[in-house]
Order: sequence, then C-alpha cells, then structure tokens
Amino acid sequence: MKKAVSLTTPEKIMSKDYNPRMHSAEHILNQTMVRMFNKGRSFSAHIEKKKSKCDYHFERNLSGEEVSEIEKRVNQVIIKNLLVTESFVSKEEASIKFNLERLPEEARESLRIISIGDYDDCPCIGHHVNSTEEIGGFKIISTDFGEGVLRIRFKLVENSES
Ligand SMILES: [Zn+2]
Repeated sequence: MKKAVSLTTPEKIMSKDYNPRMHSAEHILNQTMVRMFNKGRSFSAHIEKKKSKCDYHFERNLSGEEVSEIEKRVNQVIIKNLLVTESFVSKEEASIKFNLERLPEEARESLRIISIGDYDDCPCIGHHVNSTEEIGGFKIISTDFGEGVLRIRFKLVENSES
C-alpha cells in the first residue's frame, strides 16, 4: 500500500458525530471480534462520547468469560500504543482484502485504509487517534442478543480505572 495525498472526504459523511477515541476503540473491538469468533465486523454501530454500541451478526449472547477476554484483548492492543496510520489503495485492490458492503456509493476510486499497528486494517473515512494509548481503558458495559444480533455496549475509562 503506497501513501498518497489525502483525498477530500465527502462532507456529509464527515459530519457524522465521530468521537475519535471511541471510534478507534470500535476498530480494535471489531478486529478482536473477527479474531475470536470469525463472524465479521459490526454491521451497525452507534459511536458516542459517553457510551457506544456495536451490532454483530451472531447466534447467541456472549458468556462472562468471553466478555472478559474481549476486554483483555482490546486493552492489550491499547497499551501497546500502536500507531494509527492511513494509506490509500485502489477500490479493486481493497475489494480483495476487505468487505466493502458498507462502503458509501460515493466512495472514490481510491480508498483510505486505516491501520492500527499490525493489528487491524479497515477502510474508513472517520477521525482516529494518533496512537492507541490515547483511547484509554476499554470496558464492556453489557451485551445482549436477539434475532440474530449480538449488541455490545462499551465505554472508555481512564487507564488507571481499567
Ligand atoms: Zn475509522
């Protein structure tokens, strides 16, 4: 993936109320879910400053042990203080590696890929932290399951509270 000059991001997408810390935590949570369960990234997310939620196609709720394991893994990535970087690839190249279902119609030929160290790569137009320690501690508030959808609610705490 070669670096390219930053593209103009469509204004209407950018106006979405992203909280960079929360949103960066969402990337790490999604990669952690992929690695643990191999059921894909969240198909829907509501990211807000105080608490956020991500929905996954799933077949059951998570056990307490699984919730603890997810928190542990996400926090392990955060404390590594991995750099969050952007690069650009062609849509064609990206379609081999990523699921582009959620890509907006107006996405340009060149896609922006956000990488969190060597842990996660994901096409994204949002705002992110520069390195993962800025996120703070990751805490799952609750999970519930219904009609094939697992919802994970989470918040961020100061590192010392996590
Ligand atoms: Zn993002």
